[in-house]
Amino acid sequence: MINASTKFIAVIGDPIEHSMTPVIQNAALEALGTNVRNIAFRVRREDFDKAVRGAMALGILGLMVTIPHKEAAASISDELDWLAQLTGSANLLHFRDGTIVGYNTDGYGASQSLKDAGVDVKGKRVAIVGAGGAGRCLCFQMLLDGASCVHLFNRTAEKAIRVVEEAKAKLSYENVYAHELKHEALKEVLKDVEILINATSVGMHPNENETPVPADCLHDGLVVFDIVYNPLETRLLREAKEVGAKVIDGVSMLVYTNVRAVEVCLKLTPSFELMRQRCIEELRRKI
Ligand code: NAP
Repeated sequence: MINASTKFIAVIGDPIEHSMTPVIQNAALEALGTNVRNIAFRVRREDFDKAVRGAMALGILGLMVTIPHKEAAASISDELDWLAQLTGSANLLHFRDGTIVGYNTDGYGASQSLKDAGVDVKGKRVAIVGAGGAGRCLCFQMLLDGASCVHLFNRTAEKAIRVVEEAKAKLSYENVYAHELKHEALKEVLKDVEILINATSVGMHPNENETPVPADCLHDGLVVFDIVYNPLETRLLREAKEVGAKVIDGVSMLVYTNVRAVEVCLKLTPSFELMRQRCIEELRRKI
């Protein structure tokens, strides 16, 4: 029960109504026996700074941050973790002794999801489709995790080129390539790729019939990781399964970002399994 001593972690974005975070994080916070709860707020872009300062004044422990505020979250921070510094975007703000510490935990969530599925990125050839906020972050993370090369595809090629140039400059890494998201280029490059990650929003509810990668580009030597988690099984994952590829859904990545938020804000480790289960139940209920 919420009472006068209850503390809060909040999640902010615009839109925010679709967020799974309050449901899955509250299940874990209750199970831990804490008097802490998670609450969602819709915050418009122009209100971001006021909202963050207000949250600090209210004694909110930390803010999870989603579209469109991740870059503003990095800018407002007094300190940044390594990935937030590299990418200039943060998805978690922790209020610590009057300062704001920004983290980017999307990369951690993706790395852990691959590890849980028994996939070691080190030495692997990786392709990522999507060079938006998530794709950019995953491009850096896969390079940091030791991928032997990363091919970054994007509908707007200039964005992929920019990320690749940035990655080369910041990580002194040469084996990273930008491509326009086109059928022929995908088909050619994916022949030699071992891990394919979808970081576009293509295939997400309500556009479940769409896929960012045509089925004839897929093969049984691939691990296909779709960070879209609604629906649980996207068309890309279904078609990847059909050709015998190993598949990983986006739920674990989402859950790991929630695990990190609780660890950072409360110094407690919540149950990953409980949160994953709760998330799957909620997604099934919504369908
Ligand atoms: P974003 O910054 O808005 O980027 C969207 C990306 O999707 C861009 O690369 C965009 O290409 C591409 N795209 C959109 N519509 C397209 C279309 N019709 N054809 C081809 N490409 C298209 O969003 P984001 O933050 O990177 O998030 C991307 C997706 O990842 C979302 O579905 C989000 O829910 C999911 N996500 C999941 C997790 C998780 O924890 N599982 C975490 C973060 C994000 P252009 O640049 O050409 O527009």
